[in-house]
Amino acid sequence: MSTDSPLGGKVSIVTGAGGQIGEGIAVELAKAGSDVVIADVNVLDTEYNQQSSKEVGGAKRAEEVAARVEELGRRAHIVECDVTHADQVSAMVEETVSEFGGIDVLCNNAGIITVDSVEEMKEGEWDSVMDVNVKGVFLVSQAAIPHLKESNGTIINTASIAGSIGAAGLAHYCASKHAVLGFTKSLSLELAGDDVTVNAICPGIVDTPMWNKVLTPTLEEDYKDTIERVIPLGRDQSPEDMGRLAVFFATNRNITGQSVVVDGGILQNVI
Ligand code: NAD
Repeated sequence: MSTDSPLGGKVSIVTGAGGQIGEGIAVELAKAGSDVVIADVNVLDTEYNQQSSKEVGGAKRAEEVAARVEELGRRAHIVECDVTHADQVSAMVEETVSEFGGIDVLCNNAGIITVDSVEEMKEGEWDSVMDVNVKGVFLVSQAAIPHLKESNGTIINTASIAGSIGAAGLAHYCASKHAVLGFTKSLSLELAGDDVTVNAICPGIVDTPMWNKVLTPTLEEDYKDTIERVIPLGRDQSPEDMGRLAVFFATNRNITGQSVVVDGGILQNVI
C-alpha cells in the first residue's frame, strides 16, 4: 500500500452510487486507490421518492460514474440492486466477492425523501422512506458483514443532519436518519471485536434531486436564498466533501461508532 494510494487494492461497494453523493463517494474512493462496485436501481417499487416516479434511472446514471472510476485507473462494476430486497442484496454481495475476491469498504448511501405532514402522510410513504433509508442499511450490512470480518473492513453509512434535528414535513425522513445513527453506534460495538469499524457521514445541504426536486419547491424560496439563510459558511456542501470523509473513515482504523457532520455550520445556527 503506497501513501499515494491509501486504499490501493481495496474493494468498495457504494449503494445509490448512481446518485450524486454516491458518485462523489465512489470517485473519491477510487482516487484513493479502491476498486468500486456501484449499486443502484433503475426502477423502484414506490413513487414516494425524490423523483416522484418509480423510474429513478439510478443504474443508468451509474454508467457515467463507472466511467469516472475507470478514468482514474480503477475497476468499476455496476450491479442493479434494490437495497430493500434481501435477495437482490445477497446477489449483489456475492457478485462483488466473485468478481473482486472480497469487500473492504461498504458505503450504505442509497436514500429517498418526500415531504408530508404526519397528519397527511400515507402509510406507504412512511414505509418507503423507512424501507430504503433504514431497512436497506440493515440488509446490505448484514449481507456484507461476513466478508468485512475477513478483511477487517469498514461500514460507512450516509445519515444526515436530519439524524440530529427535527423538521416539519420530514418526520419519516428524520426518524429514518436518527435510526441510521443508532444503528451505526450499535453495529460498531457488535463488530469491534472483529476489527470492523462503523461510522456515519451527516451531509448538510447538497444540490441533488433531494433539494432541487423536493425541498426547494416545498420551501418556496430560491435554493441560493436557503443557503444564505441557513449555512453560516455561506455555501452548500458537495458530493466530493462526503467522498473525502468516506476516505477518512476508511483509512482511520481507530475511529468507530462516530458520525461527522459536514454542513457548513447549519447545526450550530440556532439563533
Ligand atoms: P440522489 O437522488 O442523487 O441519489 C440517491 C440514489 O439512491 C439514486 O441514484 C437512487 O436511484 C438510489 N436509490 C434510491 N432507492 C434505492 C434503492 N431502494 N436501492 C438502491 N438504490 C436506491 O440523492 P443524494 O442527495 O445523492 O442522496 C444520497 C444520500 O445522501 C441519501 O441517503 C440521502 O438521504 C443523504 N443526504 C442527502 C442530502 C442532500 O442535501 N442531498 C443531505 C443529507 C443526507
